[in-house]
Amino acid sequence: MKNIDIAIVGSGIGGSLIAALNKNKDIVVFEKDHNLGGCASTFKRFGHFFNTGATTFVGYEDGHIIKNIFDKVGLKPDILQSKIAIRNIQGNKKVDRIQNFEEFLSQLNSVYYHKNNRAFWTKIKEIDEKFWKLKHIYFAKYSLKAFFKSSIFVAELLKEFKTDLLISAQKFINDTLPNISDEYRAFIDSQLLITLQTTSKNATLLSMSLGLAYPFHKVFYVNGGMGKLIEDLLKDVKVNKNEQVISVIKKEKQYLLKTTKDEYLCNKVVLNSTIFDSSKLFIDENIKSYFQGFKFGDQSAFVVYVKLDIKKEFLHHYQIVLKENIPNCISNSFFVSFSDVNDEKMSKNGLSLTISTHSKAIFWEALTKEEYEEKKEQTKEFIIQEFLKYFDTIKKENITSNFAATSKTFYSFINRTNCGGKPINIKSAFSLPSCNTPFEGLYNVGDTVFAGQGWPGIAVGVDVLNKELNKI
Ligand SMILES: Cc1cc2nc3c(=O)[nH]c(=O)nc-3n(C[C@H](O)[C@H](O)[C@H](O)COP(=O)(O)OP(=O)(O)OC[C@H]3O[C@@H](n4cnc5c(N)ncnc54)[C@H](O)[C@@H]3O)c2cc1C
Repeated sequence: MKNIDIAIVGSGIGGSLIAALNKNKDIVVFEKDHNLGGCASTFKRFGHFFNTGATTFVGYEDGHIIKNIFDKVGLKPDILQSKIAIRNIQGNKKVDRIQNFEEFLSQLNSVYYHKNNRAFWTKIKEIDEKFWKLKHIYFAKYSLKAFFKSSIFVAELLKEFKTDLLISAQKFINDTLPNISDEYRAFIDSQLLITLQTTSKNATLLSMSLGLAYPFHKVFYVNGGMGKLIEDLLKDVKVNKNEQVISVIKKEKQYLLKTTKDEYLCNKVVLNSTIFDSSKLFIDENIKSYFQGFKFGDQSAFVVYVKLDIKKEFLHHYQIVLKENIPNCISNSFFVSFSDVNDEKMSKNGLSLTISTHSKAIFWEALTKEEYEEKKEQTKEFIIQEFLKYFDTIKKENITSNFAATSKTFYSFINRTNCGGKPINIKSAFSLPSCNTPFEGLYNVGDTVFAGQGWPGIAVGVDVLNKELNKI
């Protein structure tokens, strides 16, 4: 049996950021898969590299938590700013999500004109800017100090946002953009599905603002694939790949970790498994029931991976909004990410594409094996056909390989069926899991924990966790 101070279960964005911040300690990251990064990994298939899920990297700018963490770790990421963050296409309507506000507004007005567009988007931008300037972001429970720091955060939120905090996204849209067209609403909702895993129906004004303002920040492409960023973060950390943690047993002051390869006695355990999956690791009834108290959030992904035999410049990211829902999915839009033509690894022998949309894990789980294969093929083919309609310089013959992933695929590789954080709305904000638990030495990190998904959301949670872990 080996002794470790801090064991980190999983090398997702959360596990990797907290490991990198504590790399000078006696720390081991356990990763079930042979690729690092979970939803933000890069994998090789048929001789080509593909990004598993995440393709955009946001927040590497002065004053932002992401840049602060990378600076603390001493890592300068190998990234390239996307000139146009995302091109949103709906029928013959096209809007480029760019940083420049006036240019964005003028494009928006040319296709989704509304007399209050300026007021709406100014508010969105202002709220987002205010949020990232907050000084006391904190959300932890189970100790007086944690409650105190969290209360200061709530007080800061109230002071900065006042009644805006209580406004729902839908009310704000209906009040500010009365008689908004269905297409314009779809333009907004399709972007919220990507950033928040929900539409304006279930979001607050604050979360909608953070979701919609994402491309007002610099959006980066990661050279060599998103997984390369994770590998760089973990380069000075002990990582045990292909080693799954099977159980965590609470001892008096420590935790006994049993993995597929060995046993370890640890002072602290940080779980980067989702909050819904962590209960499976424990036999202790108290810990099990703590984790089971979080209701499963069924936000999952359907992803199509495509390799093209062409080397031609495209934007890094497009979002295609269709009239109808994609078969077997819960969305009418899909997000297309192209590898950069000059990326020697990802674009070797042609471009690598990750195309994703939203679906429910429960749907795929209920199918027989035959139904599953049939529906997976149907969805994949539908997405490829639609994709080809929008990129007429790409022909079917240019596709040298294609395959798809459902929630079941995600489960077999990275142990999770849901693939995104739980949408934060007024109701869920209070039941949100925090990075600390009622059990001394046991912590959570990742997109199912405060403050949510993607690089920026997870980094906010990592920052709080780092303070809790080190009693700062
Ligand atoms: C299709 C898609 C597209 C996305 N696009 C973007 C984007 O463009 N930009 C962005 O910022 N975000 C994006 N996201 C969101 C982002 O990818 C996720 O929020 C983030 O990667 C999740 O990180 P995490 O820390 O929760 O860890 P996860 O990604 O869940 O990783 C957890 C890791 O822990 C490992 N693990 C779990 N249990 C065990 C165990 N018992 N033992 C050992 N290892 C274990 C898993 O194998 C996995 O590697 C996207 C997500 C998806 C699904």
